[in-house]
Amino acid sequence: MQVETRVRAINCLHFINGQFVESQNHKTFENINPATEEVLGTVAEGGKEEVNFAVAAARRALNGKWKTMPIVERSKIIRRIGDLILERQEELAHLESMDTGKPFSLANSVDIPRAAFNFHFFADYMISVNTDSNMQDDIALHYSYRRPVGVVGIIKPWNLPLLLLTWKLAPCLAMGNTAVIKPAEWTPMTATVLMEICKEAGVPDGVVNLVHGFGPNSAGAAISEHPDVDAISFIGEPRTGTAIMKSGADSLKKLSFELGGKNPNIIFADSDLDEVIETTIKSSFVNQGEVCLCGSRIYVERPVYEEFLTRFAERVRTLKVGHPLEADTNVGALVSKEHYDRVNSYIDIARQEGATILTGGKRPDGYEKGYYLEPTILVGLDRNSRCVREEIFGPVVTVMPFDMEEEVVMQANDTHYGLSATIWTNDLRRAHRVAHQLEAGIIWVNTWFLRDLRTPFGGMKHSGIGRTGGMHSIDFYSELSNVTIKL
Ligand code: NAD
Repeated sequence: MQVETRVRAINCLHFINGQFVESQNHKTFENINPATEEVLGTVAEGGKEEVNFAVAAARRALNGKWKTMPIVERSKIIRRIGDLILERQEELAHLESMDTGKPFSLANSVDIPRAAFNFHFFADYMISVNTDSNMQDDIALHYSYRRPVGVVGIIKPWNLPLLLLTWKLAPCLAMGNTAVIKPAEWTPMTATVLMEICKEAGVPDGVVNLVHGFGPNSAGAAISEHPDVDAISFIGEPRTGTAIMKSGADSLKKLSFELGGKNPNIIFADSDLDEVIETTIKSSFVNQGEVCLCGSRIYVERPVYEEFLTRFAERVRTLKVGHPLEADTNVGALVSKEHYDRVNSYIDIARQEGATILTGGKRPDGYEKGYYLEPTILVGLDRNSRCVREEIFGPVVTVMPFDMEEEVVMQANDTHYGLSATIWTNDLRRAHRVAHQLEAGIIWVNTWFLRDLRTPFGGMKHSGIGRTGGMHSIDFYSELSNVTIKL
């Protein structure tokens, strides 16, 4: 289906030392629109050579005027990046929607405003950051100060491209670092426009660099193994995290990892089912279920299990799967053919595992092109089935009943992942009791996706290393030195 938009897709070049450049060998790859399977444009394919240029530019810029710039000036530039994102909000939302397949309405109301807010938040936050000082009797004065970590490699996934890139880049710049960015190969457009915006906002040449390309044996691996990259901020799959950790080991890089999730959504019988169902629609299927925080394992206390299932399935059937640029679309296209096939393979696995597909599990009628899949509810699965244990990262949820609090806590924790969890209950004591037992970095009670950027964000177990948000981001993107002066 073709939907007209006045925003045109762009061809994506690397951005190195303040200039848009092609690859040395002029190599490119095609950027495909997942909603139509048409070619959106070309993307420069970078590798070792381009990464070497980018890292050298970032290293030089680290000691240039970026270093001597007063903090208030740096903060103004960072704020201006946020302002310029908002000035180009509609264009960026269109590009994000075309690249990812997500509804334009979602990109325009969440991804792009939040990308701007990431810069506005850290522009303010950076100025309020204090360091410690300590008088030790009459013997000595101790004080500490922060300096940048250095050149930071920022390697990104495709699901929330600009939102997640800016979540890392804003504090990285706030603390005076320079960056070499590698966007996901499937979603290169908004990162490319962000480079234009950074330049216009006054970021000095070389401070922000971007190299397009793939992961293994390509730009991603070249960044993570580069000896002159001091830190890696990575968001993506756990097994990619393992590869990056191995290749960064020789140069002992500082690492921040935000990885996958298989998050439990626990619904107790005393909760308000109207509220539960409306939020669970979002926590299951927003962004086609391609959000690391989606609650893909739904556990419902037995007394309300049947009622929940009936009402949830009815509501899911009202969701409109359709072209991302149509105003009433709730669920767009999955990001790529490869990912679409992977998610569909789990529908086959679910059938083999004896699941009942309560709703969904197929392409919506009328769509021959594009990677569309109806929101899918799986029931009747064993807790050891692959669909319950593995991250599907699409519009597919499993629903299972439970009888006892201890049983559901045990099942919720029975995974290698530990990113987020949601608890629905009106019993205050139970809310705290269960929250304290769940092995997850982010726990929501009677809500989902509610964020305050000052709070710690990240996962435990195979869902991540370290936390970001507020001081946690400041800590990762800076090195503390302590000075002791004997009196
Ligand atoms: P991915 O790991 O396949 O790719 C992420 C990035 O890493 C891409 O830019 C890719 O090119 C690059 N890459 C791949 N192999 C590499 C290598 N060997 N060396 C260096 N770079 C390499 O992940 P994805 O499919 O893009 O994203 C989906 C995953 O991201 C899911 O697991 C999801 O849960 C996770 N995710 C986590 C969070 C979070 O905050 N915890 C947020 C969004 C997505």
